[in-house]
Amino acid sequence: MPLRSALFSQRSLVLTLVALLSAGFLATSLLSYYASRTSIRDNIVNTELPLTSDTVYSEIQKDLVRPILISSMMSRDTFLRDWVVAGERDPEQITRYLNEVMTHYGAYTAFFVSNNNLTYYQAKGVLKTINADEPRDAWYFRVRNMATPYEINVDVDMANHDSLTVFINYKVYDYQNKFIGAAGVGLTVDAVIKLIDTYQQRYQRSVYFVDTHGKIVLTGADGGPQGARSGQSLSDLESLKDLPALLPTPHSGSFEYSTRGQGHFLNVRFIPELNWYLFVDKREDSALGEIRQSLYLNLLICLIVTLVVLTLLNQIVKRLQRKIEAQATLDSLTGLPNRRGFDLLAAQAMQEAQREPKPLTTLLLDLDHFKRLNDTHGHLAGDAVLAGFARDLESCLRQSDIVCRWGGEEFIVLLKDTDGGNGLKIAEKIRHLIEQRRYTYGERMLQITVSIGLTTLQTDDTLHNLLSRADQAMYRAKQSGRNRTCVELPHSSYE
Ligand code: GH3
Ligand code: MG
Ligand code: MG
Repeated sequence: MPLRSALFSQRSLVLTLVALLSAGFLATSLLSYYASRTSIRDNIVNTELPLTSDTVYSEIQKDLVRPILISSMMSRDTFLRDWVVAGERDPEQITRYLNEVMTHYGAYTAFFVSNNNLTYYQAKGVLKTINADEPRDAWYFRVRNMATPYEINVDVDMANHDSLTVFINYKVYDYQNKFIGAAGVGLTVDAVIKLIDTYQQRYQRSVYFVDTHGKIVLTGADGGPQGARSGQSLSDLESLKDLPALLPTPHSGSFEYSTRGQGHFLNVRFIPELNWYLFVDKREDSALGEIRQSLYLNLLICLIVTLVVLTLLNQIVKRLQRKIEAQATLDSLTGLPNRRGFDLLAAQAMQEAQREPKPLTTLLLDLDHFKRLNDTHGHLAGDAVLAGFARDLESCLRQSDIVCRWGGEEFIVLLKDTDGGNGLKIAEKIRHLIEQRRYTYGERMLQITVSIGLTTLQTDDTLHNLLSRADQAMYRAKQSGRNRTCVELPHSSYE
């Protein structure tokens, strides 16, 4: 059916538009999301994390510079050298000296180990005698044999409840360049931990140190990745089980891994001074959260726009559909309902009348000798008369009555709540009005008469029965001379 196919094509037009809009919106949103994501990731991997690593490294170097300088000064101090050369007679003197260095420079500890008698002096007095068989004292013999003037060693400090300390171990020589011992200061790692915490808060990323065997050696106060503590191996951490595959032994570089469905960016850098690796780790979602949110917002806006467009289009289509349907049930010449419209209205009116029950009168009207009028004055004149007749017919009826152009010059009227007697009066009123009416067409005055067949609705009538009785009545009106109303009832008929 053409009507249905028109509606179908409208619906498919709406669907195509919505599909196009959605696809377009989705494509642009996703494209811009992925473009921003790539640039943010590149920025993190190539700039942000290496920069953080550089900053942390240079901060550490900066923090180590002062103790190195102090230790260097101790190693060149003439008092220290003189005191040793003079035979280390009064330990009080060296203790005072070390205490002065420690308190004045704010170091955690200051020490001197004499090579003469292997005595370990520190600020509070003589600590002990160094023993070559004691693993904790191995550092001294390493320093004694090393070629460089000093080393940085991270070790536990016996004098300070075995807390982890960064020691600067400087070689001390006498005036003849003979090795006479090792001096230096210690820096507690607490200070470094505070430093790490500051970095973590400032840069929103996790910072920790790992030794050459992949063991975590230093973390912030809250621990390393997923709360891991110092001493734990990276490979033992359930949450980092993908990382060892990437980094069997630590080495410098940029890495990406995921754990618990969460992407991570990792920058690893070797710190030669400590012989440790600095790990700077950033979670993907903390970096991409914002653009992901803007993607969701984008998609929401697209969805709303699509829904609005869909609603508007749907309304337009519905309105169009109603218009098309109305046009399909109306006669274009007279503006009255056509046969299709009449069928719908008549079925409803008959149902109402039969249910209540209420009388219903039907009139079938046919213009007399209309062919002749057409032949004499032309088809257009006939059209004008038909339109005029329709207006006159309507003027004789109530709003609630049903009137339609049945076809050609035939009309049907359903008079609601009207019995045969009243129906006949109305039919006659119509017939008289038309008989007296003159329709103008150009210069011409045209006259017409109408024959009417009347019948009333019976209890078990169908529309077909009703109309064929009206048709019979109308036929009789024609037969008996036209311009009259004939009545046809199921069992009786009269003029
Ligand atoms: P009768 O009195 O027996 O009804 O004679 P009639 O000429 O009216 O009868 P008939 O049904 O033979 O002719 C109807 C005419 O109405 C023929 C047709 O050309 C004309 N007609 C039908 N529809 C239209 C229309 O829309 N416009 C015009 N101008 N004429 C129409
Ligand atoms: Mg006819
Ligand atoms: Mg006719």
